Amino acid sequence: MERIKVLIAGSGPAGYTAAIYAARANLSPVIYSGMELGGQLTTTTLVENFPGFPEGIDGPALVENMRLQAIKVGADVRIGTITSCDLSARPFKLTIDNKTTVEADSLIIATGASAKYLGIEGEQEFRGSGVSACATCDGFFYRNQDVAVIGGGDTACEEAVYLSGMCRKVYMIIRRDQMRASKAMQDKVAARENIEILWNSLPKQVVGDSSGVNGIKIEDKLSGESKIVDVTGVFLAVGHHPNSEVFAPWIKTDKEGYILTQPDSPKTNIEGVFAAGDVMDVRYKQAITAAASGCRAAIEADRFLQSL
Ligand code: NAP
Repeated sequence: MERIKVLIAGSGPAGYTAAIYAARANLSPVIYSGMELGGQLTTTTLVENFPGFPEGIDGPALVENMRLQAIKVGADVRIGTITSCDLSARPFKLTIDNKTTVEADSLIIATGASAKYLGIEGEQEFRGSGVSACATCDGFFYRNQDVAVIGGGDTACEEAVYLSGMCRKVYMIIRRDQMRASKAMQDKVAARENIEILWNSLPKQVVGDSSGVNGIKIEDKLSGESKIVDVTGVFLAVGHHPNSEVFAPWIKTDKEGYILTQPDSPKTNIEGVFAAGDVMDVRYKQAITAAASGCRAAIEADRFLQSL
């Protein structure tokens, strides 16, 4: 069975940064990409808050640069998802894509987070035919049409602004009378004439027929009245849940599934297992904080391996 010194699960900024540091420490790290090569940055547009790029950089280009940098310094980047693991003793055993099992002396979990769905009627039925959680992936299909974005965070604003460049009209459906998004993102939304914000609006049902979505039913939280907004696309931007399920039998998480790490450290409850990025970050969830935590995890993995 193959034995790996540092196995990194996940290929976002946390995973690639961990790989860059581990490779430069001569630890021959192996990354398993996970289901979404490049993670959430691949579903975003212009990133203006990652230092080093005065004009900003597209999310997919940023994470591709990280991948190339990791490979250049010696990381082995593989396509594959960890489907089960046994972390009860070292070397840890991890199964990839339900077929190959490898051994690892240390493990860095950087599996990130995935988009949440609302659980309303019609949502799953029309997933892929009118319901999407990624405007940059699917926005193209709704050119010159009217669409809705659910949520009032930075992601929702980013998606709404992106969609407003190709769609006729974008409704933002926000459940409170204010947004959670940063002022900078709210200003970008306000500058777009074809974005209309529907405040205090609760999404209740995605409405459609055999040809796809034709509306979203919303309820006014204050009056209790319902109405259908005519749209052909519904884009969800209501937050993310951490991808920790496969490790949950061994690794302690909070009730939402975020991996618990020791105070001011990437160490988990199991010696030799570290966590980095959105899978353990309840608070910041930025590309730059994920990258920084990947660096910390690699440094701790190196110290751990040297202590053996
Ligand atoms: P978020 O900040 O958690 O926002 C989620 C939004 O969805 C909130 O407006 C929330 O409403 C709403 N929501 C949640 N559940 C809902 C439901 N059941 N029905 C209707 N609305 C619902 O998530 P995010 O926007 O994905 O951002 C996650 C993190 O990534 C944040 O830290 C953000 O700053 C960061 N981010 C940064 C950038 C950037 O800097 N360029 C871009 C994207 C994301 P409430 O406010 O009422 O809870």
